[in-house]
Amino acid sequence: MTRYKTFQTADALAYALEHTDRFAGLDSTALTSEEFGDGNLNLVFRISHPDGASLILKQALPYARCVGESWPLSVDRARIEAEAMLIESQLCPALVPEIYHYDAELAVTIMEDLSDHQILRQAMVEGKRFPTLMHDMAVFLADTLFFTSDLYLDPAEKKQRVAQFINPDLCKITEDLFFLDPYCDHERNNYYPGFNERASKLWSHTALKAEIADLKYRFLTKTQSLLHGDVHAGSIFVREGSTKVIDAEFAYYGPAGFDIGSYIGNLLLNFCAQWGLMDDEDARNNYRRWILEGIDSFWNTFADRFTGYLAENTNDPSLNNLHWQSRLMQRIWHDTLGYAGAEMIRRTVGLAHVKDLDVISDHTRQLQAAGQALVLGEALVMQRRQLDNMGDVLTMLSGLVEY
Ligand code: ADP
Ligand code: MG
Repeated sequence: MTRYKTFQTADALAYALEHTDRFAGLDSTALTSEEFGDGNLNLVFRISHPDGASLILKQALPYARCVGESWPLSVDRARIEAEAMLIESQLCPALVPEIYHYDAELAVTIMEDLSDHQILRQAMVEGKRFPTLMHDMAVFLADTLFFTSDLYLDPAEKKQRVAQFINPDLCKITEDLFFLDPYCDHERNNYYPGFNERASKLWSHTALKAEIADLKYRFLTKTQSLLHGDVHAGSIFVREGSTKVIDAEFAYYGPAGFDIGSYIGNLLLNFCAQWGLMDDEDARNNYRRWILEGIDSFWNTFADRFTGYLAENTNDPSLNNLHWQSRLMQRIWHDTLGYAGAEMIRRTVGLAHVKDLDVISDHTRQLQAAGQALVLGEALVMQRRQLDNMGDVLTMLSGLVEY
């Protein structure tokens, strides 16, 4: 019999008190507990003391919160999330919240409260800039994607890790929402009134569907690196000088470019959304340039770091081959562009939208911004193998979107 039960606020408080020492020496009767998660799948409680001590307790529900009990989901994802975050915190401790405790059976993780940070998506909707964001994300992705791969790990250990992170329920969400729904007239799809024609064009775009099949097949079969699996702008907390990646429940072994592309795709979605978010043309163009320059510096930092690791830390002599390594970097780049494009497409016609586009109040501008995202997403997927570097991407982009 499993001990699993869904927590109420009082359960969360009692559990946190028993299993952490965060409130040691404080009057426990003064503690408060609230459930405030805005996420789609889980319960998130904040337990805090008036003196300032606090923590976050996250519990997985046995179904998708946003859909209800008709969409069952294994709570094993809480174990996967906690174990992935522990690996991430060994590799880049400054870039994830500290994990204080986790309990696989109750599907509970207790972690550092990041309430002094803001979710990146909201921050970018507000047009904020974060000078260390691009560097931090390049470090997070280079370090997690390299040191969990066969490029570094002993092959037997890596295979154990693949088994440790078998995550069928959450992968299925991505397999369906990312790669299936937008390319057929699926009942889960969700698009703005007036977007029907654009959406339905995807369903008969044979060449695009073949490229999406290629990207999906790589997602299904390529156990390259331990992915975070959900690096969208809602999984990144930011504050001046600090970046923290949360919510690793989609972690599994997959193609490295999926994580990198999800991140870039979300930056480009905001780039497109600014068309309807920022009225002042100069301010808008400035912000859009900040995003594009940021993507450029992000990729350069990522590639330099990853290439450096290849040179210094690749233990397998067969993989220590410069010609092959440059081919590998190019393949990761092409995957990155493809997954970035697929992310952009699915966020305009699929079930899960992004706030960046949804909050645009002027309907015409909203349709235009979503149209930019769709056109850019399609071009990235279709042309990724011809785009050798960021310069090529920018040239393509400037031919499609005015900025
Ligand atoms: P879900 O997997 O259900 O999407 P998330 O891990 O994304 O859950 O968390 C949902 C929300 O809970 C976040 O958007 C954020 O507002 C809040 N949250 C999650 N983790 C923390 C944390 N460590 N500190 C502060 N708030 C958090
Ligand atoms: Mg989540």
